[in-house]
Amino acid sequence: PLQCGIVGLPNVGKSTIFNALTKSHSAEAQNYPFCTIDPNVGVVAVPDPRFDYLVKIVEPKSSVPVAVEFVDIAGLVKGASQGEGLGNKFLDHIRKVNAILHVVRCFQDENVTHVSGAVSPKSDVEIIELELILSDLDQVDKRLQNLLKKKKSGDKEAVEQSAVLERVAETLKAGKPASAAGLSADDREAIKDLALLSLKPVLFIGNIDEKLLAHPEESPEFRELQQVAKERGAEAIPLSGKIEAEIGQLSPEEEKEFLSDLGLSEPGLNRVIREAYGLLGYITFFTAGEVEVRAWNIVKGETAPQAAGTIHSDIERGFIRAEVTPFSAVEEYGTQKKAQEAGKMRLEGKEYVMQDGDVVYFRFNV
Ligand code: GDP
Repeated sequence: PLQCGIVGLPNVGKSTIFNALTKSHSAEAQNYPFCTIDPNVGVVAVPDPRFDYLVKIVEPKSSVPVAVEFVDIAGLVKGASQGEGLGNKFLDHIRKVNAILHVVRCFQDENVTHVSGAVSPKSDVEIIELELILSDLDQVDKRLQNLLKKKKSGDKEAVEQSAVLERVAETLKAGKPASAAGLSADDREAIKDLALLSLKPVLFIGNIDEKLLAHPEESPEFRELQQVAKERGAEAIPLSGKIEAEIGQLSPEEEKEFLSDLGLSEPGLNRVIREAYGLLGYITFFTAGEVEVRAWNIVKGETAPQAAGTIHSDIERGFIRAEVTPFSAVEEYGTQKKAQEAGKMRLEGKEYVMQDGDVVYFRFNV
């Protein structure tokens, strides 16, 4: 599944948030076979009211929502790229993830020590960012060295990769993340195997005082984080680790009341999961049969046969047509069948580009 790594300075609330994420027993999470792969990795369901609706009207034997894997990457501290603390081992962990959730402390609490003395979102972000940048620079330099010989012998790929890496190195040396190097899709492809940390999409999470949760803009620390995120073309989401941890302990009924008392419509973690999913450029389509209702994730722009291939390679190979009903029509007419009777089901061929929310049945030759 999609993997998100949770990073941030020590004591900002990473573990609290990770635990709340993986232990929350919202309705969606309940019907996902939650698995703990290891204490620092948890799989959670992507909350999606469309999925819940389909399950409700179809009443299938089983239902499987889209899953996202979260990895708690503790141990990233100042000096990590230099091998301090548990250093580089953790950086290697991050190389494997698709996206990074960067947790930043925005709450004041005298009882919780701040590693650098004061709560300061901007400099906190910069400390973590610098470690990622230094680690990347190390990788890039090593690779450039290795490519020298091949480059001299005129190896085309080596020449191409070196050219991109030299630009990246320049950006990194200026203290900027590789994502600021203005790389094209082709450039990114050429250096993909390096899995550069500072090239990964980032979502910032401001762990704020629970009293300000309903009005995060009243927190100067959160406003500072929003500015930091904006400068990076990223989003900042307010969250209270403390509150999310409490929500995780409640029954669904208690949860509703608790949230409405706080002036919230859903747990902050739901938004985090959805935003993380969107950050990766994914869209969702559904299959909704009586045996199983399932949500699938594909990359935006994929065609019907490619989508079929995420279910099974045989379905892609034998693809004939896709019966497509937009979820909005299913909802409008109440059921898939009624939507179809109203002429809302379309037959689509091999060229069809899948749309978010398509409810699909694939016809295929065995
Ligand atoms: P990590 O080192 O980033 O994983 O941080 P932890 O999740 O272990 O949290 C560090 C300390 O901060 C713990 O004592 C938590 O109880 C506390 N903490 C976490 N989130 C909040 C919060 O939203 N508000 C307050 N006041 N304390 C929090």
